[in-house]
Parts: sequence; C-alpha cells; structure tokens
Amino acid sequence: MIIESCKLCPRECGGYRDDEIGKGICGARAVAEVARIAPHFGEEPCISGTRGSGAVFFSRCVMKCLFCQNYDISHKGFGKAVTAGALAEKYKMLEDMGVHNINLVNGTHYIPQICESLTIYKPSIPIVFNCGGYEKPESLKLLQGLVDVYLPDFKYADDELAYEYSGVRNYKETAERAIAEMIRQTGKPRFGGGGMITGGTVIRHLVLPSATKNSIEVLKTIKARFGDSVLVSLMAQYTPCGEALAHKKLSRKITAREYQRVLDTLFELDLDGYAQELESSGEEFIPDFDLTGV
Ligand code: SF4
Repeated sequence: MIIESCKLCPRECGGYRDDEIGKGICGARAVAEVARIAPHFGEEPCISGTRGSGAVFFSRCVMKCLFCQNYDISHKGFGKAVTAGALAEKYKMLEDMGVHNINLVNGTHYIPQICESLTIYKPSIPIVFNCGGYEKPESLKLLQGLVDVYLPDFKYADDELAYEYSGVRNYKETAERAIAEMIRQTGKPRFGGGGMITGGTVIRHLVLPSATKNSIEVLKTIKARFGDSVLVSLMAQYTPCGEALAHKKLSRKITAREYQRVLDTLFELDLDGYAQELESSGEEFIPDFDLTGV
C-alpha cells in the first residue's frame, strides 16, 4: 500500500507512507506495526474484567507527549510490521484465549489498516478503540459499525498546555469533535454479563502534576458537552519517565491535595464512571513491550 500524502489525523501533515517508509510526523509506515498482543489487566474493571482485555499495542503515535509511559513504542517506534490478515488472525487468537474484548491501543494512525483487519475477521466479543482523543471525525467514521466501545483520552482543556506537553494545536476543540463522533456511533454506555461493557464511550483523563486547573476544566467540559452520554475514568497513575524526568513540572507524581481537588470536582459535577486510587503506581500498568504475541 502507498499513501502519497497522509491526512488521516488532525495534524494533516501530508507525510508519504509505504510499507518501508513513514515520512509523516508520526513516522508510521503504510503497514501497521505492533509491539505486543496479549491479555491485559490494567484497564478499567468493565474492560479488563477477570479474564483480561485482548490488547493490541500499536507502535508510533500522532501525539508527542513528553510524559508518555509507552515511550519506546510511541516515540521510538519499536514494533514489528503486521499485515491486516495477520492482525485478523491475532484477534481470533485472543478471542480463543477467552479475553472479554479486543482492545486496539493507540491505532489512530492505522485506522484504514484496522478497518481492513476487522473486515477480514470481526470477533464476536466487543471491539474497543483506545486512543488519545486527537482524531478527525472523518477518519473515525471509517470505524463505524466495526468498533463497539471508544476509550479516548481527554487530556487537555488548555491548548497551550497541549502544545507544550504533546506538541499538538487546538487539542480541546479537536477532542470535543472526536468524542462527539464516537458517541454518535456508540450511543450511551451499555453493559453485559459480569458488568462488562458492550458498547459506548468511556473518557479517560490522567491528572498531571501542577495542572489541576486543566483537569477541572476538562471535567467541566465533559459535563457540559456530553453529560450522561459517557463514563469518565479519572486516572491518578502519573509516573515521571522518559523526557518528563528532567522537566520542571512533570518530574514528580501528583500530590494527594491535587488529586482531591480534581476528585471533588468529579463528584460535584456528578459524573458517572471510575476514579483510580492515588496509590496506583504507573509501572504496574505498563506491560513489557517485547513483541509478545506478535
Ligand atoms: S497519521 Fe501520521 S502521517 Fe498521517 S497525518 Fe497524522 S501524523 Fe501525518
């Protein structure tokens, strides 16, 4: 496959992509690259359940977050090329292992390849699209009828912070438009046996150090824009790593006081969903990216 001028994500950088070369900002080639395919237990209870979520971790990323906890695969591009047909076989493998769902982690830059793989084989368990909230509605429309659950981040209400930490412009409005499209496709959250999610949109927000104002604005925006059409998952697991270790604000974990301020807002706004314990350590949520299952 050759993509002469890629405009798949909101960066619309026009990068050339073929099966060997990826010249866009994300560095993704035209063939998908994957770093790990295995049951994963680090997601929300309605996604990980007791048997795990069948996670496919895609390499590279359209965002460049300084604090990324999957730095080796997102920034450095560690991974192995996997065709759409091979991906389809991996979905079947995970399904046969008994996982609750197929969890496509960070596949924004591979949406066409994901669509092709799900057209070859659509498992009978829910398909979860786990992403950064920085997607184009036009690209998400390609996933309509193939994805059951969207799991986007809503990282920033402050566009300057988004540019400083993730190198993207106009994040807030972009995320709002993307999430509106996700909800249009999925409807309100729905659950099946064992409380496992079968459809809907769950918005994640990771609380960052020295950024409680941003977090509070994100929650207020979610309430005003999406109300009870979504679940919210508030995450306290921020752990400095990579470039963040040397950053003046990002080199520490969040404090109990910071998290409590954000939690208070979550409760005041009466948003439905999940809130991590503050003690949750980042490392326990990071699997080994060693091509397991690829
Ligand atoms: S997916 Fe990658 S190559 Fe395509 S527009 Fe986005 S950053 Fe550029």
